[in-house]
Amino acid sequence: MSSRADLIVGLQWGDEGKGKIADHMAQTYDFVCRFAGGHNAGHTIVVNGKKHALHLIPSGILNPKAKNIVGNGVVLSPHNFIEEMSQFDNLEGRLFISDKAHILLPHHALLDQAKEIRKGDKAIGTTGKGIGPAYSDKIARVGHRVGELFDCEKLASKIIKYFEHHSNIFIDIPIPNRDELMEELKGYRDILSPYITDTTQLIWRVLDEEKRVLLEGAQGTMLDIDHGTYPYVTSSTTISAGACSGLGINHRDIGEVTGIAKAYCTRVGNGPFPSEDLGEDGERLRVNGHEFGTTTGRPRRCGWLDAVALRHAVRINGVDQIALMKLDVLDGFNEIKVCVAYEINGKRIDYIPYDLEDAKPIYKKFEGWDNSAGIRDFNRLPAGAKEYIFAIEEMVKCRVGVVSTGPDREDTIIRE
Ligand code: GDP
Repeated sequence: MSSRADLIVGLQWGDEGKGKIADHMAQTYDFVCRFAGGHNAGHTIVVNGKKHALHLIPSGILNPKAKNIVGNGVVLSPHNFIEEMSQFDNLEGRLFISDKAHILLPHHALLDQAKEIRKGDKAIGTTGKGIGPAYSDKIARVGHRVGELFDCEKLASKIIKYFEHHSNIFIDIPIPNRDELMEELKGYRDILSPYITDTTQLIWRVLDEEKRVLLEGAQGTMLDIDHGTYPYVTSSTTISAGACSGLGINHRDIGEVTGIAKAYCTRVGNGPFPSEDLGEDGERLRVNGHEFGTTTGRPRRCGWLDAVALRHAVRINGVDQIALMKLDVLDGFNEIKVCVAYEINGKRIDYIPYDLEDAKPIYKKFEGWDNSAGIRDFNRLPAGAKEYIFAIEEMVKCRVGVVSTGPDREDTIIRE
């Protein structure tokens, strides 16, 4: 018998508070694995008063007993990864990087920024870190894999050739100097080689040994390359299915799926967001929820919970239980709205259509409540908050198993 890996996945547009749940859960797992995305994702975790910024390294790194896998589905910037590693001591034997993960190099970020500028007001609102171009290269079969760092000479030649072939797009980006490139790659190799391995074999072995494994998603379902609001999406498979291809496991290897959703919605960057509130309520959510980008400080777009999108996310990810985050941010509103359907060209739609661009929200209203902040017992939640949770369960057809009422690890209700 082998064990099954549990999975956590964002159900909205990212920033759902995965950090808190991942940190909480990572304490009880032997292995924590990342399966998609790059260093555009991430969260800040505070342990014993010390802040740790995690972008690519899985949350298990903060549990001294847990080991961590960066899967093949990830795009890895060696430069940024090494910087992230420097926050921690004694990583050898606790951190494993797939030799099949793709390498993100500085020119990917330069390309990303140049493309966004050219798009003008049609810009996706990417973080400009090169994630999109690195995935484009992977799919176009001109990417470079982490395992190639073991032959830096060959890799340097390939990269130079790549620049020569793409000279039309590298107008303002100079071809790297071969010697300098070699030095850079060797530097990466020297630091990273103890960690690079065949993580597919590793995870199979670990599951066969019945270890407890947690799979950690990045970003959110509505940013998925296939199932999100294309083209305003990220370049990877963010849904639970991405864990299979991004780690080399099969669907039977997956156990319980916990979907993380905020009690309201936010979105960063451009693209449709039907339940966005551009008025006072949106501003209040932003301020109460501290909805500003962690690295950029960019204000996040804020609005009401979108039950249509959440139901879609529950189904597509096979969610067993929802962790409903930041319930306390809704404290003090007289009225709370939930988007229960969309109106598109005069028609009521209660599923995610081909295009969300012109979708207008149809709201159901709930009476507000006070003082849910810091409550740690479900029965002690204000009546309005409990009703809100029951209504969500009904609307999205999934149990809310965890409720978070504050940033503290202890401000968490686990419903039996
Ligand atoms: P993530 O990347 O998905 O973890 O999301 P964010 O980067 O937006 O992090 C969530 C932020 O909200 C962090 O600062 C958390 O400390 C905070 N947070 C998490 N859960 C709660 C909660 O239930 N209530 C409040 N008020 N803050 C929370």
